[in-house]
Amino acid sequence: MARSCLFCRIARKEAPASIIYEDNEVMAFLDIRPVQEGHTLVIPKKHQKNIYAISEETVAYLFKIVKKIAWAVKQGVDAQGISIIQNNESAAGQVVFHFHVHIIPRSEKYEGHRSRQISETPQLEEVARKIRQFL
Ligand code: 5GP
Ligand code: ZN
Repeated sequence: MARSCLFCRIARKEAPASIIYEDNEVMAFLDIRPVQEGHTLVIPKKHQKNIYAISEETVAYLFKIVKKIAWAVKQGVDAQGISIIQNNESAAGQVVFHFHVHIIPRSEKYEGHRSRQISETPQLEEVARKIRQFL
């Protein structure tokens, strides 16, 4: 476990996040700079840097959870569609080197998608509450 890794710190609750779901293996929380409201990240709690490092068992279990959460996100923010994205290495746009899957709601009418501004905690907590209702 990398001491300074941001997502390890979130998994250990040493750094704040608006948590959608957690169990012994995985955690899902809202992205602080959402592409669209409800943008969620799903991580293994144990540090794995990317798709090459993570075990088949862990990634299989994690995607089982991704499926459940994708449905809850769709319902929670009334999305018209959902994109699932997972970046590996800098060339692919990976910025945080702790494996994570993006669950991104998509709606034609959404206008905030270009800015990717940092969301305030109360706003994220309200979105998290709406999504958790559907888990
Ligand atoms: P990547 O580009 O590595 O696939 O995605 C990393 C994601 O982590 C980005 O979408 C970014 O907005 C998100 N992120 C970066 N720092 C934080 C943080 O402190 N808290 C949360 N919740 N998300 C973060
Ligand atoms: Zn980590």
